[in-house]
Amino acid sequence: MTPTRVLVLNSGSSSVKYQLIDMADRSRLAVGLAERIGEETSALHHEPLAGGGGKRERHGRLADHDAALEAIAEELAADGMGLDSPELAVIGHRVVHGGLKLTVPTLVDDAVLKEIERLIPVAPLHNPANVTGIRTAQRLRPDLPQVAVFDTAFHSAMPEHAARYAIDVETADAHRVRRYGFHGTSHAYVSRKAAELLGKDPSEVNLIVLHLGNGASASAVRGGRCEDTSMGLTPLEGLVMGTRSGDIDPAVVFHLGRVAGMSMDEVDELLNKRSGLLGLCGDNDMRQIRRRMAEGDAAARLAFDIYIHRLKKYIGAYYAVLGTVDAVVFTAGVGENSAPVREAAVAGLEELGLAVDGELNAAGGKEARLISPSYARVKVAVVPTDEELEIAEQSYALVASR
Ligand code: AMP
Repeated sequence: MTPTRVLVLNSGSSSVKYQLIDMADRSRLAVGLAERIGEETSALHHEPLAGGGGKRERHGRLADHDAALEAIAEELAADGMGLDSPELAVIGHRVVHGGLKLTVPTLVDDAVLKEIERLIPVAPLHNPANVTGIRTAQRLRPDLPQVAVFDTAFHSAMPEHAARYAIDVETADAHRVRRYGFHGTSHAYVSRKAAELLGKDPSEVNLIVLHLGNGASASAVRGGRCEDTSMGLTPLEGLVMGTRSGDIDPAVVFHLGRVAGMSMDEVDELLNKRSGLLGLCGDNDMRQIRRRMAEGDAAARLAFDIYIHRLKKYIGAYYAVLGTVDAVVFTAGVGENSAPVREAAVAGLEELGLAVDGELNAAGGKEARLISPSYARVKVAVVPTDEELEIAEQSYALVASR
């Protein structure tokens, strides 16, 4: 029997998300989340999707990622889908930063782990958790291939003129300061699905992909390759996000240091965790912001307007980068669910060939769909992202090709 199952692990700083996917029919066998790892209030939410059984919860401290992964393995085992199962082909890990060297899905060995660790200074929140996740999985199933799929990979095709900051080259190179981009697995998956929706090969279409979740990023994709993306050295650059500022004059950092006496760490925390929609109006959930706007809340209105203004600037910029655009594609929590955001982002861009059909936009749904009127020169689409499936596809393809 050829094993066809892939366990996808997405280890964050205090959480592990997981999905067990059967590549024979791309079905999900189990999904779950271990959260608040390291705290007294840790929880594990586990849902077997094959063979019934229903959701299960575990509460109580999960000391570290090791403990979390062991608990996950136990839950899977209780459903007869444990890590020792002969049907498991590979464990696929989401790894946030692959730098310049790790640009394709990669079978993990010691040298690869070292390289992921070497990149910790440019991804201090994510790469350590990714390394721990891989090490624990290796300990639990030493004989099983582990594949790392990098968030930065899709953007490694970016031309030098988009990837470099205009700073002294020697300093930049000495410290690996350049634009890497993130959410790459999502941008890759969504680009491919959008091409499918347009009935074309990915190599034939130019797309502006807007991944609007709690983190948010835009990409200009020409013929299936990334030409530019809005996140940079870290996920802080670009669009207004849930809690991150996105683009800002770097002199704001010096100013806050000199005038407000803030330390580097304090400014880092301000821009990453207390800015964006949250900093502007006290809420980072678009649903809540829309509710407040309906009640006439001025701060929520302004936060929304700033968010849309930035989004529009990127649509315009990437239109210019690509020259011709086949579709603007919305994805992730806000992009998939917020009709008002989609409508506002495209409003007034008719001269660029862009328009949204009110009814199609409001209709909702879980499938990839067009929301532009038939006459629109540039299509507008909603394409639900599925980073876990993409990681599973890439991991499985790698082990199947060995
Ligand atoms: P993600 O990071 O892709 O999981 O997206 C999470 C964000 O999506 C949340 O913080 C909300 O702002 C947004 N979101 C989720 N559902 C909706 C919805 N129905 N309408 C508007 N925004 C939503």
